[in-house]
Amino acid sequence: MKILHHGAVGGVTGSCHELRPGTADAILIDCGLFQGAETSGKGAHAEQLAIEFPIDRVRALIVTHVHIDHVGRIPYLLAAGFNGPIYCTPPSAKLLPVVLEDALKIGVTRNRSLIRKVMARLERMIRPVAFGQWQAIDVDGDVPLAVQFRRAGHILGSAWVDCRVGSGDAARHVIFSGDLGNRDTPLLRAPDQPESCDVLVMESTYGDRNHERREQRQDALEQVLRHALADRGTVLIPAFSIGRTQELLYELEDILHRNQGSEAANGLAWDDVEIILDSPMAAKFTRLYRELRPHWDDEARARLEDGRHPLNFEQLTTIDSHADHMRLVDYLDRSERPVVVLAASGMCAGGRIVNYLKAMLGNPRHDILFVGYQARGTPGRAIQQYGPHGGYVDFGDERIDIRARVHTISGYSAHADQAGLVAFVRDMQRLPGEIRLIHGDPEASATLATLLRDIVPATRVALPADDRKPG
Ligand SMILES: [Zn+2]
Repeated sequence: MKILHHGAVGGVTGSCHELRPGTADAILIDCGLFQGAETSGKGAHAEQLAIEFPIDRVRALIVTHVHIDHVGRIPYLLAAGFNGPIYCTPPSAKLLPVVLEDALKIGVTRNRSLIRKVMARLERMIRPVAFGQWQAIDVDGDVPLAVQFRRAGHILGSAWVDCRVGSGDAARHVIFSGDLGNRDTPLLRAPDQPESCDVLVMESTYGDRNHERREQRQDALEQVLRHALADRGTVLIPAFSIGRTQELLYELEDILHRNQGSEAANGLAWDDVEIILDSPMAAKFTRLYRELRPHWDDEARARLEDGRHPLNFEQLTTIDSHADHMRLVDYLDRSERPVVVLAASGMCAGGRIVNYLKAMLGNPRHDILFVGYQARGTPGRAIQQYGPHGGYVDFGDERIDIRARVHTISGYSAHADQAGLVAFVRDMQRLPGEIRLIHGDPEASATLATLLRDIVPATRVALPADDRKPG
């Protein structure tokens, strides 16, 4: 058995791992885009996306969840000749075609008939597998392979994957964590706890810090909004289209619901605060999230039964066309309307949020609120890091001085924090012999590795960054 890492080592994007059960065939777990300054060891990066490793023995692709840094290179995998099944959970099977169609339009081609052809091929390849059900993978050689999805609590449909290599008592289990979420994520059911495994390949995005609790972060969100709205500025929240946006809408609906009839900030009623979702993609995914409500957690479904609409409330407006978007940017920059805008991309590396930032970063009346992880080299990281000290950020060759206020609330991360990651390991009844920490900045992975070596001393904890030398 062999595990290779083609991305998300020494960084948080470009997730792609290969599992070879024997000497013949292999499967891939995720096939994601690199973002910001991050690259694979063999030269793939945000602009060079062709698959740079051999795939002729790859029999199937397993998708943990539909974030672009886990699935964005699937079109390139097809272009490289991959034609096997793509296994994922039922909600992911519903979300994945929409994500990939968008990825094709943005990154590959505008040719509609080509997009239709690729999409038709993809739809035939996608195979939903229910949570908790073993799916045999058709591999050559004498080592059978099966996979099982378990809930990861990261976005709707997200899973960690248990790979069973071999059979009977001799079977070995490799778990790929995908992205792990938190127990109390809005809308989502709690992540499942694995009982045991032999090798754990685990993300470590927040390996070096802990989040605020849910009540604290909802409080923090409400406080930031009160302060930000007091001077009638715009509050900009850069957010991923899938997951974070819907969680935020859910939390915002709750803040508005709880504060009905009361004042948000000097003379401004909460009932007059407008929430704007300026992202056609995020709006599309919000609709899909609404359709997928049988997969929501109990709290969210209880709100529905109370007649509330957590993802479709009255003070929420969706902006669709590009012309409306540009008009709104211009209008909000000049007007004194207390508005909260959610727009993608989550790390400010593209998308409509960039137009807002260019127009508004220079004005101290506006506020930028980060609720998600900002990868190195992204404009989001620069704004987060230098903004509070009067720094600047570059968008292409345009340099913008940051005078708007910059806030960060860590609790809304869709990623488990250090305590969550440690518990995922420690709460297994039989500990893994080996843990490979991936999907983290080097400092975060190293901090978690040190901690785990202390807590589970019999387990080998590796940082596979060193395995991926070019060539
Ligand atoms: Zn993710």
